[in-house]
Amino acid sequence: NKTISSNFIRNIVVEDLNKGAVSEIVTRFPPEPNGYLHIGHAKSICLNFELADEFKGRTNLRFDDTNPLKEDTEYVESIKQDVQWLGFEWDDLRFASDYFEELYNRAVVLIKKGKAYVCDLTAEQMRETRGTLTEPGQESPFRSRSVEENLDLFARMRAGEFKDGERVLRAKIDMASPNISLRDPVLYRISHTHHHRTGDAWCIYPMYDYAHPLSDAIEGVTHSICTLEFEDHRPLYDWVVAECEMEATPHQYEFARLNITNTIMSKRYLKSLVDNGVVDGWDDPRMPTISGLRRRGFTPESLRAFCREIGVARANSLVDERMLEHFIREDLKLKTLRSMAVVRPLKVVITNYPEGQVEQLEAENNSENEEMGSRSIPFSREIYIEQDDFMEVPPPKYHRLYPGNEVRLKHAYFIKCEEVIKNEAGEVIELRCTYDPETKSGSGFTGRKVKGTIHWVEASQAKAAEFRHFEPLLIDDEASADKPFLERINPESLEILQGYVEQGMAESKGGDKFQFFRHGYYNVDSKLSDEDKLVFNRIVSLKSSFDP
Ligand code: ATP
Ligand code: MG
Ligand code: MG
Repeated sequence: NKTISSNFIRNIVVEDLNKGAVSEIVTRFPPEPNGYLHIGHAKSICLNFELADEFKGRTNLRFDDTNPLKEDTEYVESIKQDVQWLGFEWDDLRFASDYFEELYNRAVVLIKKGKAYVCDLTAEQMRETRGTLTEPGQESPFRSRSVEENLDLFARMRAGEFKDGERVLRAKIDMASPNISLRDPVLYRISHTHHHRTGDAWCIYPMYDYAHPLSDAIEGVTHSICTLEFEDHRPLYDWVVAECEMEATPHQYEFARLNITNTIMSKRYLKSLVDNGVVDGWDDPRMPTISGLRRRGFTPESLRAFCREIGVARANSLVDERMLEHFIREDLKLKTLRSMAVVRPLKVVITNYPEGQVEQLEAENNSENEEMGSRSIPFSREIYIEQDDFMEVPPPKYHRLYPGNEVRLKHAYFIKCEEVIKNEAGEVIELRCTYDPETKSGSGFTGRKVKGTIHWVEASQAKAAEFRHFEPLLIDDEASADKPFLERINPESLEILQGYVEQGMAESKGGDKFQFFRHGYYNVDSKLSDEDKLVFNRIVSLKSSFDP
């Protein structure tokens, strides 16, 4: 189902097409290449691409690369990969830096019209004279510079005659405007910084509020969709398009950004986690980046379904993180092999099972999807079970293994715990059990019932595996609300466990996904797995109380 649900932006698009205001829908996704994309960006990507797709329009991927200090080609490449992985194809790949010459020429047009001037105030002086919500700003003493002087100074800014911060180009709009973004905003600043694409060709760079509307107009974007914090900038957006005498007239529409509980959704903070070594890179499976979610095991389908469900609104809201989990469970439920993994192994010796014998048992691959068929799994005298599935002194209602109790081994037999072996420290290191051959799974045995069913892995052929379980990176409670960001990091966000998976999974490749009986959905980590050991990231546990 690819139809996006109705939302206010889609309604505008339908109306614009109906009344002939536009003949084709053109959108763009405009990331700044200063970090990796996160799940919030996925919302914007889905919105822009799906909207244009639905009405047979076009979507550009445009890098908003006007701030060279923070930008890098590594980010450009990761962003391209993430957009494609999500399942979208852009029409044109553009860079705002492609337009630097044109943007400069348009600024000259503004200067000639008396709509822009070179200002020598320092950043601090500009802040001080900008006014407040209740007080108008003060006009800069440089506001009345002649066109000739402005043209000369602007050319010399470009030529590199001035130092960073010495001068800026400002729009001449209205210092008394109730909208502060119209109080002679800066259009160009000086920055002697190497740019990842234009190198040292430029030492003046356009501001976002100037570059963005012009880039949209150059590309023929019809609906320029951005997040709500740009609402106040919309009159400036329209001013720039009109005063620069652009042929096309793109329009800006704002929607609420995505916020998710317990989730850091800002590139600045995500970068600080990477730079401070809190995580092992932008694609750490705990990161809410698209690359992190991919490595964790989320699928493009699940992220797109999530974005569709949360919808597009103009009111800010907070989405429950469990909703994202719901969509990955839904996506994987019928697709993944359900197999057995032991994450905290405890050895069990079945004393009445013949030594040296290995038999093959049949195990269904997915109890909710017969089409997935079945596989054969080995069983023998030695198996591993979960440490948690045994208690020497069981509490009431504990139906798993304890001395004298009998349980069902999934896909196999009933076993009964006869003896507990401990080490010198008194820890349980092995169980001795007996099995009843008559209770074989699928044999129709009805002689007696047991209350517990546990999973297991045959020991001699088991494949060693590491399991990584995750908790939120950030502690999000009242006590830590005022603490600096890095002191709010959850020290227990990663738990590493060593155990075993079924022998049949030995050939698994990075990105393969499974449901491990009673543990959850897992993804084979493509970076950490090797021939000796598979590393599984837990995508999500099996159940949650949440159902949207
Ligand atoms: P951040 O604050 O995380 O750095 P940004 O808005 O600065 O994000 P950009 O690269 O400028 O990042 O964003 C590209 C596009 O993605 C923009 O159109 C922006 O509005 C959108 N976007 C960013 N974060 C979100 C979010 N949380 N929800 C929805 N859209 C978002
Ligand atoms: Mg940003
Ligand atoms: Mg931005």
